Amino acid sequence: MAKISPKPGRKCCVCSKPCLRVSKYCPQCSKLYHRMRNKLFPPKTVKAIWDHVRRNGYVCYYTGMSLDTEDPKSPWYCVFDHWIPGDSRKVVLTSSLLNDMKSDLTEDEFWSTVFQLADFKRLHIKIKKRKPIYWDRLNRGQLSGNRGGNRGQLPIW
Ligand SMILES: [Zn+2]
Repeated sequence: MAKISPKPGRKCCVCSKPCLRVSKYCPQCSKLYHRMRNKLFPPKTVKAIWDHVRRNGYVCYYTGMSLDTEDPKSPWYCVFDHWIPGDSRKVVLTSSLLNDMKSDLTEDEFWSTVFQLADFKRLHIKIKKRKPIYWDRLNRGQLSGNRGGNRGQLPIW
């Protein structure tokens, strides 16, 4: 694929970097635009993601760490996370690594797990088991062979 160079003078409508010749976006935001379009996110979700990028740049919603938008193999690659597992109404940017760690946990469950693990590692405090509220959905996906390939969608029975 031919690389399209930025057109001098025009600014990206999201981040103000130089625009692509045929777009209102810079190369980085153009890529995100196409990824969001392929995911068919609702307009409110897309707007919230753009607002996040405008306010903070390409940083993780949960940690504020900068994200890699170039290398999909990087653990810090910018990916979409369903804030509530399976619900496209709120999708946030995070790293590939953190997204895998969060899996199908809610944000509260994720941080609770992180803190409990840290307490266990540092202080040998026993972990209190609490069943994640979206875990059943994940288990049904595994039984039908959908783990990973159909994340964010309910399996069809
Ligand atoms: Zn941009």
